[in-house]
Amino acid sequence: MIKIENLKKSFGKNEVLKGISTEIKEKEVIAVIGPSGSGKSTFLRCINRLEEPTSGKITVGGTLITDKNVLKVRENLGMVFQNFNLFPHKTVLENLIYAPMNVKGVSKNKAIEKAEDLLRQVGLFEKRNEYPNRLSGGQKQRVAIARALAMNPTVMLFDEPTSALDPEMVKEVLNVMKSLAESGMTMIIVTHEMGFAREVADRVLFLEGGYLVEDAAPEVFFNSPKSDRARAFLDKVL
Ligand code: ADP
Ligand code: MG
Repeated sequence: MIKIENLKKSFGKNEVLKGISTEIKEKEVIAVIGPSGSGKSTFLRCINRLEEPTSGKITVGGTLITDKNVLKVRENLGMVFQNFNLFPHKTVLENLIYAPMNVKGVSKNKAIEKAEDLLRQVGLFEKRNEYPNRLSGGQKQRVAIARALAMNPTVMLFDEPTSALDPEMVKEVLNVMKSLAESGMTMIIVTHEMGFAREVADRVLFLEGGYLVEDAAPEVFFNSPKSDRARAFLDKVL
């Protein structure tokens, strides 16, 4: 589904991604783990071209994404950020129907129907007419997930979706992500939630210093990482 070949990205003289290659299959759930500043967000942002790669190739579903119009690339890739990024002056429902109507040309009725289904799925149907500032962090993030799903993406990208949440709200967001994974969605998740990565991910990518240091099944990564760097990282966080 996604093929990444020798992906490099520099900001000025700072080479942040130093040649990353991996493949992600349909329905795979990938956890991207690593210390702060290791290039995790940049990696994710290159996949949906919020950053332009300096070199290397990324294909999604067989299409080279650097050849495509940016909006076309993003239609297939849902993205969820740490800080929700909801439209503050739109209601929950309006947040969900905006892109389907304005980017994809879906009719208002169809967009609302789909949005309401998704809000039921994330447990927030009753909040459909609220504005984001009336919601808790966990509710905002569930709206953000539903909004990304409203575009019918083939892949969902998450950048530390629970890092800005109060601890008691982490679980409700992880549960939504877990059921999405169980429904067969292809997902790439940058996370510090090691328990979640271990339980839900099919594979862990461990980044450090711009290198993909490990690419392994969770039970292998967490129980017997092959690199000293991954072991040192796990010693700190577990
Ligand atoms: P992580 O998500 O793993 O914490 P990032 O991908 O955000 O790491 O950042 C990796 C490095 O790239 C950091 O040194 C950061 O300062 C740098 N960086 C990220 N985005 C930019 C940018 N837009 N301009 C300049 N430097 C950036
Ligand atoms: Mg980051």
